Amino acid sequence: MEDLRDKYEVVIGLEVHAQLKTKSKIFAPDGCEFGKEPNSETSPITLGMPGVLPVLNKEAVNMGILTGLALNCEIPERCKFDRKQYFYPDLPKGYQISQYDEPICVNGYLNVKGKRIGITRAHLEEDAGKLVHAGADGLAGSSYSLVDLNRAGTPLLEIVSEPDMRSSEEARNYMEELRNIVRYIGVCDGNLEEGSMRCDANISIMPKGSKEFGTRAEIKNVNSFSALQRAIEYEIDRQIEIVEEGGKVVQETRLWDDNARETKSMRGKEDAHDYRYFPEPDLMPLKISREWVEEIKAKMPELPQAKRERYMSLGLSEYDASVIVEQMGLALFFDEVLKLGASPKIAVNFIMGEIAAYLKETKLEIEETKLTPENLVELISLIEKNTISNNIGKQIIVDMMKDGTKASEIVEKRGLSQISDTGAIKEIAQKVCDANPDQVTAYKNGKVQLLGFFVGQVMKETKGRANPKAVNEILKEILG
Ligand code: ADP
Ligand code: MG
Repeated sequence: MEDLRDKYEVVIGLEVHAQLKTKSKIFAPDGCEFGKEPNSETSPITLGMPGVLPVLNKEAVNMGILTGLALNCEIPERCKFDRKQYFYPDLPKGYQISQYDEPICVNGYLNVKGKRIGITRAHLEEDAGKLVHAGADGLAGSSYSLVDLNRAGTPLLEIVSEPDMRSSEEARNYMEELRNIVRYIGVCDGNLEEGSMRCDANISIMPKGSKEFGTRAEIKNVNSFSALQRAIEYEIDRQIEIVEEGGKVVQETRLWDDNARETKSMRGKEDAHDYRYFPEPDLMPLKISREWVEEIKAKMPELPQAKRERYMSLGLSEYDASVIVEQMGLALFFDEVLKLGASPKIAVNFIMGEIAAYLKETKLEIEETKLTPENLVELISLIEKNTISNNIGKQIIVDMMKDGTKASEIVEKRGLSQISDTGAIKEIAQKVCDANPDQVTAYKNGKVQLLGFFVGQVMKETKGRANPKAVNEILKEILG
């Protein structure tokens, strides 16, 4: 397959649905919190009763504008809502209110790892409910299905990219950055596994050098970043095989099965005209004043890219900066620590080292531990003042995460403060030398790298408490 891959260029465009974190639904007063009793958030509007009218949730519009601005989009002065007709058992009205030709955001882009990816548009729409396939054998062989309409009417922002991506890796990078953005601006949880962010990948291939795109297949049901990459890779090979055998790729929607590691045809893909879009008669077109846009722009928090760049300007490596930004809880924690004036270098060593390891091991988020930014800053100041060594710091940080104790309390209780008293260190150093006469002779005969051995012994004797600089100096003095 590898050789054949060289003959073709891959074209990918993503449609990403982000569930907006509003308190209530986009056109109804029901709550949209996840995990409620099935069908408990179902007003007559959600149920599609005759005669009810949708009322637009302003917060959903605010979030749409904020996201658009973060994605470098234009926010047109006017947008409108349209009806998209299709029948689903979990869509009681028989149509979805969406936006067709006048979406809330247009003409944006995102720079992802040096590559610019166009964003055609982003539009607001309502989500459908959920079908729960029940009965005899669970999923595939179920004998009946249940409908839960709690999710019906939850606000979604559908973000449509240009077909600008050329590999599964670029698609993944784009998707990850998009997720970072919606999380940092607070409009979406960005949880792929729970479906609060969903991605349809449109994929086609064309002979290298060709200007005309091939027919695309749309892949649904990818629930993780790695699944997205796997699904795209599979689909590229599938399409190459069809074309190599003289066949034609058909425009269709395919489902990714992450267990079987393959896509399966779900249905022929409709064209826009099949949906019979028309302007939603129950909602006025929406005018978005420039003042409104400015008001929202003023609330824009620091975006992930700017955050990474700021961290790098503080001396973090690109890798460290990216890893921290990828985990929003850690980044916000780090920002607090910086605000309190701690040294970025020492803070990063703790965050990327002991703290990250502990979080990984316990599967906790930083905010679920008892460590506060203030306490980490205190610990760092003890190290900077030479009250404790870096090593002692590493030993006590886990306890600080577990029970919230201040570093100074642990140091005092366990007598961990650094020994800088040269008299005391001299005594121990002399003892170490006396106990290792062979090494002393070797050192004196020129094997100076043995110094490390002696330092280690002194550190062991003092349980890591001796001031390393003083130990070095004193040992050199004794060993001559
Ligand atoms: P639909 O709603 O029918 O899926 P959209 O216009 O909303 O249509 O989405 C089309 C998506 O498919 C966009 O992300 C676009 O970049 C992508 N796309 C369009 N043509 C191709 C193609 N030939 N190959 C790959 N992706 C494509
Ligand atoms: Mg689509």
